[in-house]
Amino acid sequence: MQTRNSAEKPALFFVEKNMAREFAGNFYKTAAWISARNECMKRAGYLCEKCLEKGLIKTGEIVHHKIFLDESNIKNPEITLNVDNLEFVCRDCHAAIHEKEKGKRYKVLEDGTVKIL
Ligand SMILES: [Zn+2]
Ligand SMILES: [Zn+2]
Repeated sequence: MQTRNSAEKPALFFVEKNMAREFAGNFYKTAAWISARNECMKRAGYLCEKCLEKGLIKTGEIVHHKIFLDESNIKNPEITLNVDNLEFVCRDCHAAIHEKEKGKRYKVLEDGTVKIL
């Protein structure tokens, strides 16, 4: 972690980008998350739940939060670690879900990386 110099004002773009990275980056490394994630994958039988709804058998890849995580709920385990808020999906379904998440300036992917929109 770098020391912050209050005299230096980075562009807003970078501030938001770094904030987003920090808030989710640590979360996705916690034992509590890994355990919730494993539970979700096991419940889904390691198959994409969205594809299965359509009768397709496809291996899932990403545990998605139905209520998307952001700065306001990242500290709320009822959202972040609640298996009812999780669903195991494949890469394609995950991209489709997040397609709808327009209007934001960035989004946080399930692996904790941030994509600037
Ligand atoms: Zn799928
Ligand atoms: Zn997601």
